[in-house]
Parts: sequence; structure tokens; C-alpha cells
Amino acid sequence: MNPMTEYSADLKQVCGCSWAAKGADAEEVTKKVVSHAKQAHGLNEVPAAVAQKLQEAMRPVM
Ligand SMILES: [Zn+2]
Repeated sequence: MNPMTEYSADLKQVCGCSWAAKGADAEEVTKKVVSHAKQAHGLNEVPAAVAQKLQEAMRPVM
């Protein structure tokens, strides 16, 4: 495992917003997107379709 690897998800592919959620691991990225969905989109929970798009958008970055 490379400790320098982090994960990024381009939200353009997830909810249409123009920023990328980044975190040390997939769980951290997911938490940021869940919090963004609540604050920016008024969603108390992330719909399954959005969660699916998040999985597809998530990439490891060096
Ligand atoms: Zn958004």
C-alpha cells in the first residue's frame, strides 16, 4: 500500500458540481460527498443512483 495515494471523485460526474472531493481513502471521499449533498443539495441521504455514480467517479490519485 502506498501511503501517498489518495482518492478523488469529480463531482461533475456525480451531481454536476464543479469541484472534486478528495480524501485519504474512499470512505473519507464518500463522507465529504454525503456532507456536500446535504449542504448544497438539501439531501438528507444520498440516493442510490448518486452513490453508484460516486463509485464510478472515484479514482485513486498519486
Ligand atoms: Zn453537488
